[in-house]
Amino acid sequence: MPCLFCRVWDETALHAENLVVQRGERCLVMLNRYPYTGGHLLVAPRAHAASVSSLDADTLSELMQLSARAVAVLERVYGPHGFNLGINQGRPAGAGIPDHVHLHVVPRWFGDTNFMTTVGGTRVVSESLDEAGDEPR
Ligand SMILES: [Zn+2]
Repeated sequence: MPCLFCRVWDETALHAENLVVQRGERCLVMLNRYPYTGGHLLVAPRAHAASVSSLDADTLSELMQLSARAVAVLERVYGPHGFNLGINQGRPAGAGIPDHVHLHVVPRWFGDTNFMTTVGGTRVVSESLDEAGDEPR
């Protein structure tokens, strides 16, 4: 069975079904079904690879270009105070889908509730995925 990222590459459905908000040539951007904060996005290459070391230069370039665009859109729409951008590569590093590397773009606010994930096993997010996937207003 294909992994989540490989599966959504082959689907043409809109975000309401597969949470994809942008498709590039080599990478896509999608909402995280289990967001740490509102607007939490994932940027994943089309290539099913467990490590960034396996990605070619064009894919790595598009991965960062789409990440930068995601930050720009989130800055405009959400107005966060900061961001975490990062890759959890491998299960010990916290990867939920360790076989297909992906980059997290997580908007952050002073005093946000992110600690709940680590201390309470609970996430507090103030909007639904439907709202997060809507076109910027
Ligand atoms: Zn995959």
